[in-house]
Amino acid sequence: MRRTALTWALALALLLALPPRLFAGPEVVASIAPVHSLVARVMQGAGRPHLLLPPGASPHHHALRPSDAAALERAALVFWVGPRLERWLTRSLTTLAAGARVVRLADAPGLTRLALRQGAVFAAHEHASEPDHDEAEIDPHLWLDPDNAKLWLDAIAAALAGADPARRALYLANAEAARAELDALAAEIEVRLAPVRGRPFVVLHDSFQYFERRFGIEAAGAVAPGDGRAPGPARIARIRDRIRALGPVCLFREPQLRSALAATVAAGAGARIALLDPLGAGLPPGPDLYPDLLRGLADSLADCLG
Ligand SMILES: [Zn+2]
Repeated sequence: MRRTALTWALALALLLALPPRLFAGPEVVASIAPVHSLVARVMQGAGRPHLLLPPGASPHHHALRPSDAAALERAALVFWVGPRLERWLTRSLTTLAAGARVVRLADAPGLTRLALRQGAVFAAHEHASEPDHDEAEIDPHLWLDPDNAKLWLDAIAAALAGADPARRALYLANAEAARAELDALAAEIEVRLAPVRGRPFVVLHDSFQYFERRFGIEAAGAVAPGDGRAPGPARIARIRDRIRALGPVCLFREPQLRSALAATVAAGAGARIALLDPLGAGLPPGPDLYPDLLRGLADSLADCLG
């Protein structure tokens, strides 16, 4: 009897001595703002993830800040798309996040995966979705299909529940609510884009084919390829010819890319320049960023093409 009481007293003393952090949610890091937003949505009520890529930076080329390195060292969980997109993170995950569970969302089961489009000018319906496609050729901008994001919500909730079983029910309920929100948003976007379907447009960087395919619109070409490389003069000349042949089109640039390039391409080719933001660079990071970024894409397309 006395021994039991002593054991309990000891256990209580140990419990009180633990830092309060152990009672909070796990330390979670996310690579880019759209991923961070989905993770933040699933973590609502449990904590906030740390975002690595600051607004306005390119996900294809980046260098970590010291605060990011510290966050990776503390992390229990890290979410990223994968090495095809965030090559800059690959080494740091091995060296800094050795103690964390790293979730590569590009590998989530069931995703729509599209091959990188080739050339400056796209053939009509060039989209090829083949599960056995070489991993090296997959377009990494996977989050721009909200159906992919819904699958990521499941993967995120499962990983969080594994790291923090006490809040399993919260994570699963948040993910389920978020999936329903994305379904409603997709229906809203389909209505918004219906009047401009079939109108030609060109993009500065080939980031949007997941969004295009999901919502039945299609870019006629891209100045820069989808893997983040810079376009050469021959490619720029081809896209200018394409714009001239199409007549007045919208040329969509991105906040994180040099606007001078868009001006060069548009000059004399008769294109209107507008903005498409695939990362939510102009939006405050958090749970609302991802739906607001999809809504923003639909608004920009409808405004410029309408
Ligand atoms: Zn990109």
